[in-house]
Amino acid sequence: MSQIEEADLESQVTVLRGVGAERAAQLARLEIRTVHDLLRHRPRGYEDRTRIRRIAELQEGELAVVSGRVAAQGIKRWRGGSRSVFELVLDDGTGRLHCCWWDQPYHEGRYPVGSELIVCGKPRLRRPWTVDHPDVEVVEPEEEGAVSAHVHRWVPVYPLTEGMGQRWLRGLIWRTLERFGPLIQEPKPAFDLGDLPDRAAAIRQLHFPESPAQGETARQRLALDEFLALQHDLQQRRRRLQENARGIPCAGDNRLMRPFLRCLGFALTDAQTRVLREIRLGLGGRWPMRRLLQGDVGSGKTVVAGAAALMAIESGCDVALMAPTEILAEQHALTFRRWLEPLGLRVELRTHSAKPVEAVQGGPPGPGLCIGTHALLESGFSPPNLGLVIIDEQHRFGVAQRERLVRKGRYPHLLVMTATPIPRTLGLTVYGDLDVSILDAAPPSRGTVKTFVRSAERLPKVWAFVRQQLAAGRQAYVVYPRVEEQDLKTGLKAVTAEQARLREALAPHPVALLHGRLPTPEKDEVMAAFREGRVKVLMATSVIEVGIDVPNATVMVVENAERYGLAQLHQLRGRIGRGGHTGHCILVAAARTREARRRLEVLARTTDGFRIAEEDLRLRGPGELLGQSQSGLPRFRFGDLAADLDLVQRARALVQSQAARSPHVFHPPGGRTAGDTHGSPNAGQKRNTAPDR
Ligand code: ADP
Ligand code: MG
Repeated sequence: MSQIEEADLESQVTVLRGVGAERAAQLARLEIRTVHDLLRHRPRGYEDRTRIRRIAELQEGELAVVSGRVAAQGIKRWRGGSRSVFELVLDDGTGRLHCCWWDQPYHEGRYPVGSELIVCGKPRLRRPWTVDHPDVEVVEPEEEGAVSAHVHRWVPVYPLTEGMGQRWLRGLIWRTLERFGPLIQEPKPAFDLGDLPDRAAAIRQLHFPESPAQGETARQRLALDEFLALQHDLQQRRRRLQENARGIPCAGDNRLMRPFLRCLGFALTDAQTRVLREIRLGLGGRWPMRRLLQGDVGSGKTVVAGAAALMAIESGCDVALMAPTEILAEQHALTFRRWLEPLGLRVELRTHSAKPVEAVQGGPPGPGLCIGTHALLESGFSPPNLGLVIIDEQHRFGVAQRERLVRKGRYPHLLVMTATPIPRTLGLTVYGDLDVSILDAAPPSRGTVKTFVRSAERLPKVWAFVRQQLAAGRQAYVVYPRVEEQDLKTGLKAVTAEQARLREALAPHPVALLHGRLPTPEKDEVMAAFREGRVKVLMATSVIEVGIDVPNATVMVVENAERYGLAQLHQLRGRIGRGGHTGHCILVAAARTREARRRLEVLARTTDGFRIAEEDLRLRGPGELLGQSQSGLPRFRFGDLAADLDLVQRARALVQSQAARSPHVFHPPGGRTAGDTHGSPNAGQKRNTAPDR
């Protein structure tokens, strides 16, 4: 057999006729390297060429496709050549159509007289028929399959790259389908997909459907394949875990829990109690617990983590708690020391600036809690008897980091906590291998937060309001997108550059600066001063986004708010309204960004973090919400996490029912996993009303 005949779907595109090095480079820019990639290049739409219209039958203002020969062409220039119109006359034997391009002189010379064109556009004038800036395809004289691929049908419209024409790509895909289509196989394992087309037919119909609806059905079939592969993978992962691991007994004996709860200073909410019961079951279970604790900002996850840690420690195990920023790790260290040291327990802090020196210093022997940042991932950290790993604000970490910490022990239990409410599609995909607990009611101490969107011109009024709040004894955050460099072009403000201006605007109230580039002792001092009320205003970057808990801070101003995702702003806003006082969050958007301001209004309308996350997913895609490169989520070519909930559910059900049928395959345990949360996890949350306890 010759080389050519042996080519298969995984061959490089250069095996295709007409694809040399230069074309291959162009295709690579579209992430098309193999034949299979090419066949999976998704059209962004379809164009109706089922009917080529005769020029004599054109209707004014109605989109039409016309085919004919160039009868004449030329360019007219005026104003010293700065303005121009290039015009060509197309003749199809029934009439003439004038095609005009205004101020695009580069069209000149592209369509010599006599060349054959297909033109698509809306004629705006009759006598003579005239169309502005139509789409044009040159019909190459010796094209193969030309007629079948390009006219008398719905044709695909692809994302292109510089130097590549629709027609060329369409022809290439047409020919490639003819040659390689028969090699397309059903993926394994196979599932019963009802009346969806088989994969080979779906790929064909994706490119050359009989109707756009058929193209969409084809896309759904291909999306389903992606979701099935992912669900299968998640299932396998869970199964391997359960085959290899036994849960370390970590449910505790309440010996320390009772005094802990007594000294807490508040009673746990019903939601907290319920979640702790779920966690206790997990910690005493047959398999290692893998649990996601989801609760909106301020729902009181920290104390749940504290109680979970106690259970493990009571059972004689070490606990590691990882947080995404030093500031948050330090705050947790303060909190947990206050809670656990009176019980005679050891609490270590391990960050890049608080290395083991502080970590091992003193402290009673025996099991304890180690709190840290990414520094916990380093090889120097190896707790002797790790029973439970807790990850706070887990959306800031990648799946790989989470697993690295878990591997410090022999299948420890895992509790990951997040305030980013997870839309169902993500719950069923990225977090599909976790069980979920939900804190769906806020502690009674929560105040209301009012949110306003203002344009930058109104800043003086904003500062006047902030001064008034400060005079009443409250504290405030002012958040900037940058640390140092102001960006004049984009109008992005930097915290250091704005310093003098803000101090003046808010004088005489003491203002301090906090950002990631400050040395740690200074950061600690600033946080301490703010916590103790010596500093009234904290000018900060989004380092304060996660976890910070200063109840007297009730005002937040976010500059360049248009730069943030909604979920991120919701997190930021979670810093305020923590005490009994009403919080005020003022989102300041640059004046020119009306569209962005409309997006921000979502935050003014709702405090339901779940709705906000769904909106974010819809507007900005999963990458923004999760940090896609980190999330461990594969990139879908066909699947759309914002829109395909039903497909994701279908894939999950298929994988589960198949697992149930084959006894040697893992059978998922009862109980819900991340995706099974119905409706809004925050639906029961009454942040703006008095607590009903
Ligand atoms: P998050 O879920 O955002 O991490 P935190 O754990 O920081 O929330 O809790 C927010 C605030 O609520 C903290 O000041 C915490 O002490 C307080 N809190 C937590 N649980 C309760 C409770 N049951 N009753 C009263 N206050 C509580
Ligand atoms: Mg928290």
